[in-house]
Amino acid sequence: MPVKDAHGRTLVTLIPGDGVGPECIEATRRIIEASGVKLAFDIQHAGESVFKRGIPSGVPQETIDSIRKTRLVLKGPLGTPVGYGEKSANVTLRKLFETYANIRPVRELPGVKTPYSGRGIDLVVVRENVEDLYAGIEHMQTAGVAQCLKLISAKGCEKIVRTAFEFARSEGRKSVACATKSNIMKMTEGMLKRTFERIAPEYPDIQAWHVIIDNAAHQLVKKPEQFDVIVTTNMNGDIISDLTSALVGGLGFAPSANLGNEVAIFEAVHGSAPKYAGKNCINPTAVLMSGVAMLRYIDEFEAAQAIEHSVLYTLEQCAKDGVGTGDVVGYDKPNTLSTSAFADKVIKNLGNRSEKYRVRDYRQIKLPQISSEPAFVKAKTQRVVGVDIFVQSNQQPADLGPSVESLLDGTALKLKMISNRGTKVYPSAGAITDCVDQYRCRCMLRSGAEKGATATLSDADLLPVLAKVGAKHPWVHIEKLQEIDGAEGFTKAQGED
Ligand code: NAP
Repeated sequence: MPVKDAHGRTLVTLIPGDGVGPECIEATRRIIEASGVKLAFDIQHAGESVFKRGIPSGVPQETIDSIRKTRLVLKGPLGTPVGYGEKSANVTLRKLFETYANIRPVRELPGVKTPYSGRGIDLVVVRENVEDLYAGIEHMQTAGVAQCLKLISAKGCEKIVRTAFEFARSEGRKSVACATKSNIMKMTEGMLKRTFERIAPEYPDIQAWHVIIDNAAHQLVKKPEQFDVIVTTNMNGDIISDLTSALVGGLGFAPSANLGNEVAIFEAVHGSAPKYAGKNCINPTAVLMSGVAMLRYIDEFEAAQAIEHSVLYTLEQCAKDGVGTGDVVGYDKPNTLSTSAFADKVIKNLGNRSEKYRVRDYRQIKLPQISSEPAFVKAKTQRVVGVDIFVQSNQQPADLGPSVESLLDGTALKLKMISNRGTKVYPSAGAITDCVDQYRCRCMLRSGAEKGATATLSDADLLPVLAKVGAKHPWVHIEKLQEIDGAEGFTKAQGED
């Protein structure tokens, strides 16, 4: 629910952002104000300027306080150091306020010529926004081996799948495709697919189908018009939504909404595009259309429709007049429109409509209300049948294996196999593996590991094993091997029987 001030204006935390952000945000603010909507902007900062103030999260307390109050954010892109140092302030904002759904629509636009023009692309990527590899849980295992945990929860899957179907309904869309890599990552990506298949029958009015994410990328380039809504995990969604933006003319035209049950953050898909910063030449449409989505979110449907009609009309007129922003006609051309000149045209054209390009009828999206219980899924039975001990070792498998076997003598565990980067290397089945200095030693209960048994590995039995193995081969992490409701809660190594 929007929060209003004493004058009836909706409060919005406005983050101008880095690079081209302030230019796009200024254009958007002017257009929204010209539409007559009454908003009260609280200008706050995040990203590069905040990192420079020595705040490692890139999000200062005053910005957090503002968002807690307004519950609504319109932001420009934030620059993130790549490959080192601080975490992305964008991801931090999304995660701090549990905006679990990232909605990224693209549609064919008048006058924006692409190899796909005329095919009527109008699709939306619904990307899970807070889990997966982007949970950012990374560890160096050894000096030469890095690891990132891919965390997917049943609750997270339920929320994003329901959001995708609800979103489809709110826009009168006909189909939802679930794109996963469940053929390889059966537990994590597979969880999204299984959740999708369980929930889809609740939405009989919407066609539901599954597509493997790599084929989705292929199909998106080959026949994008077959897609309507695509729901997918965080990293897959990040990648394919840049692809889908390119289908309709590029990142200058790709808006997004980060939705949660408490807070919503509206921003373009694109980043700070540093090479264009401060030049008043970037296309503001992506940020503007994110602002339009924000207006719909706060029930300002009339103003949102008016701005969207004006954008379509303006693009149409620009094409007729042979002018456009740099991404459409080329930068530094006599017919190039600056960011502010394009915004002026959209303002002037408010009240006009494209004759050819229609604007959808939108309804307010109903976000899923899901239990906040941490134990969202409760197992009837759960037991520990073994442990994967990841050790640092520069030995060859043929030497490491017998050593670990002898260290396990007289304990509750026996060595089943050793793998290196997911491939079984001991006992050798003849695989040719270029080993690194991190091995996984899969140790199972000597008795009671088999299905249907009831034995469980206790910490009292496990801890002496870790001490004994670790004394010779330092362990870097462990994973308990669990049987949950009678099913193995772990996958086999490649080559493991
Ligand atoms: P980027 O800023 O999105 O820019 C990549 C390219 O996309 C630009 O060079 C330009 O292409 C095109 N582009 C982007 N915005 C455009 C617009 N409004 N109009 C027309 N063309 C546009 O990606 P990046 O260079 O990889 O990232 C720069 C920084 O932004 C990084 O620090 C990154 O972490 C951050 N980032 C932030 C967000 C966010 O805040 N949500 C999202 C993504 C990246 P041409 O060169 O072909 O003209």
